[in-house]
Amino acid sequence: MKAFENYEIWWVTGAQLLYGGDAVVAVDGHSKEMVEGLNKSGNIPVKIVYKGTANSSNEVEAVMKAANNDSKCIGIITWMHTFSPAKMWIKGLQALEKPLLHFHTQYNTDIPWDTIDMDFMNLNQSAHGDIEFGHICTRMRVARKVVVGHWKSVEAQKQIAVWARAAAGRADAHNVRCLMFGMNMNNVAVTDGDRVEFEQRMGYHVDYYPVSSLMDYFKKVTDAEADALVEEYKKLYTIKIDESGEKVYWEKVKNAAKAEIALRRVLKDENATAFTTNFDDLGDADIDAPDFCGFDQIPGLASQRLMQEGYGFGAEGDWKTACLQRTLWVMNQGMPKGCSFLEDYTLNFAADCTSSLQSHMLEICPLIATGKPKLEVHFLGIGIRKQQTARLVFTSKTGRGIKATVVDLGNRFRLITSEVECIEPKPMPKLPVASALWVPQPTFEIGAGAWILAGGTHHSAFSYDITAEYWEDFAEMCGIEYIGIDQNTTISGFKQQLRNNEVYYMLNKALK
Ligand code: MN
Repeated sequence: MKAFENYEIWWVTGAQLLYGGDAVVAVDGHSKEMVEGLNKSGNIPVKIVYKGTANSSNEVEAVMKAANNDSKCIGIITWMHTFSPAKMWIKGLQALEKPLLHFHTQYNTDIPWDTIDMDFMNLNQSAHGDIEFGHICTRMRVARKVVVGHWKSVEAQKQIAVWARAAAGRADAHNVRCLMFGMNMNNVAVTDGDRVEFEQRMGYHVDYYPVSSLMDYFKKVTDAEADALVEEYKKLYTIKIDESGEKVYWEKVKNAAKAEIALRRVLKDENATAFTTNFDDLGDADIDAPDFCGFDQIPGLASQRLMQEGYGFGAEGDWKTACLQRTLWVMNQGMPKGCSFLEDYTLNFAADCTSSLQSHMLEICPLIATGKPKLEVHFLGIGIRKQQTARLVFTSKTGRGIKATVVDLGNRFRLITSEVECIEPKPMPKLPVASALWVPQPTFEIGAGAWILAGGTHHSAFSYDITAEYWEDFAEMCGIEYIGIDQNTTISGFKQQLRNNEVYYMLNKALK
C-alpha cells in the first residue's frame, strides 16, 4: 500500500453572493488554482480535493455532512476568500465530525498599490473573512488547527502536511482493532484503563484474543513455509551464532518464523492492525514434551518484524501503547529515520551527561536501526517459558526524536510527549537486545522529572521524524488532553500547566 493513497482532504472556500455571481466565479477559479498549487508542491502527502464555494448555511451544512459520510475524507480545510458571514457556518460546524484546518491565506500576494480598487477587495478579503470565521469556531469551541501564511509558502505547506499526517493517523485509529494475546500484566497500573472510553475518544477498538486459538494457527504453519521465511531472514540479517550452537540456533529461528507466520495470519483474519503479548501467557503446551509445538518464548522476532510492517505493538499487554505505536507508524510513513516501541530500561548517571537506555526484552522495531541487524539466539529468563529465543540485535540512529504515550487519568486520557536527543551508546556484549540511548530535553533532570509528574509510562512510542506538532494536532482531533515536554520546559511551569489542564479538560466538556 502506498502511504495515504486511500485518503483525501477536502477544501471548502467560504463565500457569499453579496458581491454578485461574477465574484464567486472568480473566487472559484482562484480556489482551484490554490488547491492545484498545494497538490503540486509535493509538500503535502495527502491529496486535496476542491469541493467548491459554500455560499449559504444550507451549502455549508451539506458539504460538512458529506465529509462525515465519506470514508476517504480525513479532514476539511476551510478558507474564507472574503467576508463569509459566520452564522452560516453554525449548523455545518455543529455537524462536522472530521478534523478541521482553517487556512488563513489569500490568493493574491502583494497589494497592487496602483490598481487596487473595490473589485480587488471583494476577491482578496480573507484578512477580514477569516477573522469572522475564526470567531465562530472559538465561540462554538470547535477544535481546529489555524495555519497562517501565503498558500505558496513552504512553511505554511509544511504545517498543513503535519496536520494531514495527523488526520491520516486519526482516520486510521478509527479503524484500528488491537488484539491482546493474553491480558495486560498483573498488577501493572500504567497498562490498565478504560477501553470503552478509549474507543469513544480515540477510536481504537481493543479485544482479547485467546492464546490457545493463536496456537491453533501456529500448529498449522508448515515446515516449508517456515523454512522459506528463514531464507528471507538470511538475506536481510547478519547471522550470528553464539553460545546456543548451530543446531539450537536454527531450531529457535525456525520457531520464530512459525510464530511470525501464525501471528500475521491471525491479525489478517481478525482484521487487526495492533497487538499485545504477555510473557506469562504463551499457551499451555509442555515445552519438555517430545511432541512440543508452540512458542519457545515470547515471540520477539515476530513482534519486531510485524512492527516494521506497521502493526502497532505493546509488550506486557500494553494496549494503549500498541494502538499509539500503530498511529505513529501511520504518521511516520515514508520518513527517513523511523519509529519504534521502546521502554525505559536503565539510567546512566555519567559525569558529563546523564542518559537513559531504551530497550526491551526483545521487541524493538528495526526501522530505527543503524546498519544491518544481527539475528541472534540467546537465553531469556523471564516469564513462564525460560528459553533460548531469537531476536534482532542492533543499535539505533542518533539525533533528535520524540517519545509519546497516552495515559488514563480516570476522568480523561492525557497524551504526553517528550523531546529527546539520541546519542551513541557503548557496546553491550552481555545485553544482546536492540536499544537506543537518549537524553531527555531540556536536561535529563527536567525531562525525566516532568514525564514522571505528568504520569507518563515506562513504555513509549518513539520517532526521530515526528515532532510535538504532530502529536498535538492528533490529540486535538481526538479531543483529549495534550501536554509536551521540550526545550522550554521548567518544572514549576510544567506543574502549573498540569494544574491548569486538570481544570480545563473537565470544564471543556461542559462548555460544548
Ligand atoms: Mn515492558
